[in-house]
Amino acid sequence: MIIVMQKGASRREIDDVMKEIESMGYQTHPIFGVERTVIGAIGDERGKARLQQLETSPGVERVIPILKPYKLAGLELRKKTPVTVAPGVVFGGMKLPVIAGPCSVESHEQIIATAEAVKQAGATLLRGGAYKPRTSPYSFQGLEEEGLKMLAAAREKTGLPIVTEVMKESVLPLVADYADVLQIGTRNMQNFDLLKAVGQTRKPVMLKRGLASTVHEWLMSAEYIMAQGNLDVILCERGIRTFETLTRNTLDLSAVPALKQESSLPVIVDPSHGTGHASFVPDMARAAVAAGCDGIMVEVHPDPHEAWSDGSQSLTPAAFAELMDSLRSVAAAVGREI
Ligand code: PEP
Ligand code: MN
Repeated sequence: MIIVMQKGASRREIDDVMKEIESMGYQTHPIFGVERTVIGAIGDERGKARLQQLETSPGVERVIPILKPYKLAGLELRKKTPVTVAPGVVFGGMKLPVIAGPCSVESHEQIIATAEAVKQAGATLLRGGAYKPRTSPYSFQGLEEEGLKMLAAAREKTGLPIVTEVMKESVLPLVADYADVLQIGTRNMQNFDLLKAVGQTRKPVMLKRGLASTVHEWLMSAEYIMAQGNLDVILCERGIRTFETLTRNTLDLSAVPALKQESSLPVIVDPSHGTGHASFVPDMARAAVAAGCDGIMVEVHPDPHEAWSDGSQSLTPAAFAELMDSLRSVAAAVGREI
């Protein structure tokens, strides 16, 4: 519910109403406007009738329902809010961060070489999976903690913050110890226990879109994380399953303007998983920036033919450097910067 305070309500009246809301077991999200203050009350929907009674409290003008089911991820209660993941690395600002790196961490040499190359080309964060969700149980499953250590060494060497996937709650404390951004993969977008668990950390979360999920379901998943108090969520469009087989997924770039209209959260685009083919990645990355995304994530491998996972969609360091050059002009054309 939204509690709209009267114009000129005193600070004391506002505080009293907030206390009353909290005593009913709700979280308060005040927005102090120039003209008046509104207070969002977030919690169990069954208590709506009790909140409605606040209309009789001093200083309150009216109590109205929040119309969208995603209250924090939506725009009724919260304005567009950038997410800072490391000093100077902000998603949702004028400058677009670029996340680059291999699908999987394979060795110390591989991750260091990739980190140095992508940094040289202008990437802002390093990606690399140490825990890999693979379709086949016989495929490489990731180097686990060894991989996390290698990522940390690459961060040490290059200064690039790390984005890495967490697949299950049991390793969340470990992954959170190493990661600057926790990635929730497409297959876990509706793993509600995992979403609640990352919501209890204070690490930024990159939430990938479920491969068969609507934008509405995706925002409800973001809401699970935010409802636990972690508001630092970055959405990542990575393609959805359609009848098309020429591409690995169908990259839904219309989700970008849709989310601009619907959500307080930044949205980035992953054209690597979105297309599945290295030759399609640069065009779709440029299209994503033109569509207004807040960052991109691209898979880069020093030798894609030898990659242990997703080699066919990985760019070489040279192709990535060329892409970065062209992205700078596209970003400038839409009033952004890379
Ligand atoms: C990945 O980023 O390597 C990955 C597994 O992505 P997704 O969850 O989108 O398939
Ligand atoms: Mn991958």
